[in-house]
Amino acid sequence: MGSRMYPLLENLPPDFSEEPERPAFGISPNRLDVGALWATLPDEDKAMIGELALGMLCSGHTAGIADSEYDSIAARAATAAAFSFEEWMARAEMPATVESAIRDDLGFRIAEVLGPICRGCGCSDSDACEDGCAWADEAQTTCTACVAKAEAKARDDVTDFF
Ligand SMILES: [Zn+2]
Ligand SMILES: [Zn+2]
Repeated sequence: MGSRMYPLLENLPPDFSEEPERPAFGISPNRLDVGALWATLPDEDKAMIGELALGMLCSGHTAGIADSEYDSIAARAATAAAFSFEEWMARAEMPATVESAIRDDLGFRIAEVLGPICRGCGCSDSDACEDGCAWADEAQTTCTACVAKAEAKARDDVTDFF
C-alpha cells in the first residue's frame, strides 16, 4: 500500500515526466518593419519609447567608451544605468500599436533586421544551430539541421511501421 503514503502523486497525469507542449504559435512569414511601425506611432508613444531607447543607447555607449578609453569606474556606473533602462523596458506597458504589430494570425513577426529565419527552429545567420547549419532552400526559410531532423524522423516512422 505504498501509494497511500503519497496521495498527491495519484492525481498526476500519466505523462507528467514529459515536457508540457506549448501552443504552436511560431514565426509569421510577415516580418516587422520597425521603421514603418515607428512612423505610425502616436506622439505620446514615441515620447516614451524614444526616451527609453535613447537612455539605453547613451548608457550603453558611455559604458563602452568609458571602459575602453577612460576608466572602469564610470563604465561600471554606466552599465548599471543601462540595466536600469532595461528594467524600465521590462516593466513598461506596451502601447497597443506595438502589441498588435508584433504578431498576426500566422505567428510572431520578427524584426526584418535579423535577415532570414528558419521557420522550423528559429535559427538565423546571427544564431546558427548548435552543430552548424546552412540554408536548405533558396527562399531561406528552412535550415539543413531541420531537414536532417525531419529525414531522421521519417526514417524512424518507417521503421516503426514495419
Ligand atoms: Zn532550422
Ligand atoms: Zn539552423
